[in-house]
Amino acid sequence: MLTCKQVSNALSREEYEKMPPMRRFFLRLHVKLCFVCGKFNRQVMESQEMCRCYREHEEELAAHRPKLEDERKDELKALLASQSASSKSGE
Ligand SMILES: [Zn+2]
Repeated sequence: MLTCKQVSNALSREEYEKMPPMRRFFLRLHVKLCFVCGKFNRQVMESQEMCRCYREHEEELAAHRPKLEDERKDELKALLASQSASSKSGE
């Protein structure tokens, strides 16, 4: 059985998601049963899982982003063009 210190060290030094399944199992088990560090380390685990979730969706989000930026650039270009055209005609 792991000690509280081992669990905390493991979670702070390594990425939980990259640990071997057996190690993750024992960490999870300790966190589930331990009254001392369980609450804190569960939050650590959950936040790491949230990070992983975000990373997984990041590519998806990034795939949509360039299109929006291009559209915005075109809008800006059009705006600049119309402004410089109107300032020239105003002279
Ligand atoms: Zn503990």
